[in-house]
Amino acid sequence: MSSSRLAAQRSEVIAIAQRMTADRLVVGTSGNISVRSGDLVAVTPSGVDYDDLQVADIPVVNLDGDVVEGDLKPTSELPMHLTAYREHDAGAVVHTHSLNATALSLLRDEVPAVHYQLADFGGPVRVAEYATFGTPELAQSMSKALTDRTGCILRNHGTVTIADSLPKAYNRARQLEWLCELWLTAKRIGDPSLLSDEEMARCAELFSGYGQQSR
Ligand code: 13P
Ligand code: ZN
Repeated sequence: MSSSRLAAQRSEVIAIAQRMTADRLVVGTSGNISVRSGDLVAVTPSGVDYDDLQVADIPVVNLDGDVVEGDLKPTSELPMHLTAYREHDAGAVVHTHSLNATALSLLRDEVPAVHYQLADFGGPVRVAEYATFGTPELAQSMSKALTDRTGCILRNHGTVTIADSLPKAYNRARQLEWLCELWLTAKRIGDPSLLSDEEMARCAELFSGYGQQSR
């Protein structure tokens, strides 16, 4: 089998995985990311330091989870990644253990409407019911929380964001962390004011035309 299979995607996985550490969305080998191309998925290996990753270390799996290239074992959260591809039409998946989002998950069932940036997630970002890491139960719980959304928080664990590309899914992971930090920062001092459902709906509409849409 050609070692260049999904070469660009495997390199992209390494670059974003290393950013995830630099941006402090994970510590050590925590978290995992993947990107899909057709019926194949390039994904981070389980328990390997991101700093040392080479293209050949990035397993390529099919949508059933069989490794079709690479010698290393894929992430223990493969069930979550494959569920996001199968059930939520994701093109890329980012799973972090970012601090503020995880802290919020100990306190709330969804991210309060603190800022219009939340509209990019398709509605209030839910906190998924707790299940043990790496299990099909966690994948199921994530899937429920991801319904009609581009991100969710896994209770007592971390975040999952999806998009049609890895940079976009990663940007959502950073924005989600920022939104949770905003809420926690305000909450320490008082009772944060929140945006109304009507305003969030208006922002969601604006978001659908945000950025360089015509390019
Ligand atoms: P992996 O190293 O197997 O990807 O596990 C990290 C993790 O975040 C599990 O939830
Ligand atoms: Zn995790």
